[in-house]
Amino acid sequence: MESVKILKDLINLKTVNPPGDEIRIVNYIKKFFTKNKIKFKIFAKDKKRPNIIGYLGKGKPRLLISCHSDTVPAGEGWSTNPFKAVVKNKRIYGRGALDDKGPLAALLMAAKEIKKIENNLKGTFLVCIPSDEERGSAFGLKYLINKCKIKPDFAMMPDNAGSMKHISVAEKGVLWLELNSKGKIAHGSRPEKGINAVSNLIEVLNLIKKYNMKFKEHNLLSKPTINLGQIQGGNAPNMVPSIAKAVLDIRFLPSQNPQQILNDIKNLIKKAKNKNKTININVNILEKAQATEVDENNKLIGIIKRITKKTLGFEPKIVGDSGASDAKSLIAKSIPAVGFSFGEGKMFHVANENVKIKELNQFSVVLTEIVKSVLK
Ligand SMILES: [Zn+2]
Repeated sequence: MESVKILKDLINLKTVNPPGDEIRIVNYIKKFFTKNKIKFKIFAKDKKRPNIIGYLGKGKPRLLISCHSDTVPAGEGWSTNPFKAVVKNKRIYGRGALDDKGPLAALLMAAKEIKKIENNLKGTFLVCIPSDEERGSAFGLKYLINKCKIKPDFAMMPDNAGSMKHISVAEKGVLWLELNSKGKIAHGSRPEKGINAVSNLIEVLNLIKKYNMKFKEHNLLSKPTINLGQIQGGNAPNMVPSIAKAVLDIRFLPSQNPQQILNDIKNLIKKAKNKNKTININVNILEKAQATEVDENNKLIGIIKRITKKTLGFEPKIVGDSGASDAKSLIAKSIPAVGFSFGEGKMFHVANENVKIKELNQFSVVLTEIVKSVLK
């Protein structure tokens, strides 16, 4: 079966990010597009990490479907070689089988089908394979959108599993804050001579723990959260530490403003400082991305629901996501982008990652029908 062959080939082309080496997949897809007479362009910020886009049809509207070519590292616990695809129990095993090489194999199969009816398309189907999704997309989709003038009217990112039962339309925002605490070094037997950067940081972290963010409930997203993800400080038991650092991962809702959250955190530091004058903590933003949502009445969402119902007999549900995906950079440019894919969510980034061959083939049929319906 060609879909199985393609997915096995893709898994066997190792594209662990870092370093990525997505050129391996791009060379493979270049051959696939050439063989199937599909026009394509390559866009590269770094020649080892190119992006490739296939074009079918012409004019507007433009529908982009994007499956990334990189994967996370293998990690521990595999019972087979993660970079040598294995077919067993009607499933395909290997790193990237689901995230995102399975959906990519289905996308290539759909492109081949659409090629047969290319002349009937009213608009353009962009078969997009970006690099670098697992490490922030600076070489991948962000580069394509911000530097290469790729501007679709609709976009779909098959990168969220959900066994085709979910359409992800909303994502929380991300704010990573680094708190740097400064103190004064001294001998551990004379702590009164120093300023303890660690205990001062803890005073502030305790206030942050009690901090209730203001937000409006969202029908698809759970409450905003703060995770104390990293903490560092101190060199030896008999020294007063002069520096300490903590990093907070804050996930917020579309009704919240990250600047307001930052101001609130700064005010909590001020409040702590009013009680303890030795507190000296500044805040750096390490990462900031807006919360995003796509209107549920968007045409693409209606088509995904209808086609899935017709093809598989069930209608996918509209959902939101706590995580952040590539869809964000599209939505930031007012391009409606949704997540819709096959596979099980628990398979992401774990050992023995696998997909069911049946679902892989169903997904390529569903994708083909969605493209036909959007561009008719
Ligand atoms: Zn992915």
